[in-house]
Amino acid sequence: MKIKYLGTAAAEGIPALFCECDNCKKARALGGRNVRTRSQALIDDKLLIDFPADTYMHYLQYNFPLQKIHSCLITHSHSDHLYEEDLEMRIDGFAHLTDKTPMVFYSDTDGYNRIKAVIDKYKMTAVEVRQIELNKPFKVEDYTVTAIRAAHGASSSPVVYIIEKDGKTLFYSNDTSEYPEESWAYLKTLNKPLDMISLDCTEAMGKCTYVGHLTFDRCVALREELKRVGVADDKTRFVLTHFSHNGVDVTYDKFSKIAGEKTFLTAYDGLEVEF
Ligand SMILES: [Zn+2]
Ligand SMILES: [Zn+2]
Ligand SMILES: [Zn+2]
Repeated sequence: MKIKYLGTAAAEGIPALFCECDNCKKARALGGRNVRTRSQALIDDKLLIDFPADTYMHYLQYNFPLQKIHSCLITHSHSDHLYEEDLEMRIDGFAHLTDKTPMVFYSDTDGYNRIKAVIDKYKMTAVEVRQIELNKPFKVEDYTVTAIRAAHGASSSPVVYIIEKDGKTLFYSNDTSEYPEESWAYLKTLNKPLDMISLDCTEAMGKCTYVGHLTFDRCVALREELKRVGVADDKTRFVLTHFSHNGVDVTYDKFSKIAGEKTFLTAYDGLEVEF
């Protein structure tokens, strides 16, 4: 399985829209991996995770065949993960598609309702949406996918995904802090160490304790807990993503060294990990 991180920032991007803070100035001056767009990932060039406004920019920058991608998992309905207005661009005439296979979106309730509203408004056939059920594996393309509840703004119906194929398993877990009890209960049933776990590190070296995102210290503790319940071991690759300009020591150049000392890989826009 191969994951490509198309975007690795929180909602504002780094540098953030309209922002004049020091982290944004630094990121702009340093450029390269220090610049981050809104979160999105692509598995094996065929399974998208999330559909932010930056989808268009990712499509230009990485030149992947968006026309040929027919499956997209939505983590939750915040606009840095779901910008459903752009689905209108798949209407016949706005897009001239040779392959009329619909693009199918999988989402929990709020994202489902938002996508359904666009489909209904334009009577679209080029987009479909399916309501996911939590803690219940389902098939998407050649993958077995399970959504579990995330600890994040409840009105956005947040989930994180366990994605399996050919004996390899990825846990894509951002926009969540430490999981709610029902999700820990599901994770414990997996009974095997996963190959790769991608965690939220929104606040980097910050000290925040709020529900919804994580800091580096909390990622370190979460890794221990995931090992303790048997979902990870020393071979599991841990990658950190979804960074905010409000984080501390958040520039890639600085943070990736700190995280690397504890064997975490720091994601950047364009990073590919194969396992
Ligand atoms: Zn987010
Ligand atoms: Zn800023
Ligand atoms: Zn969010």
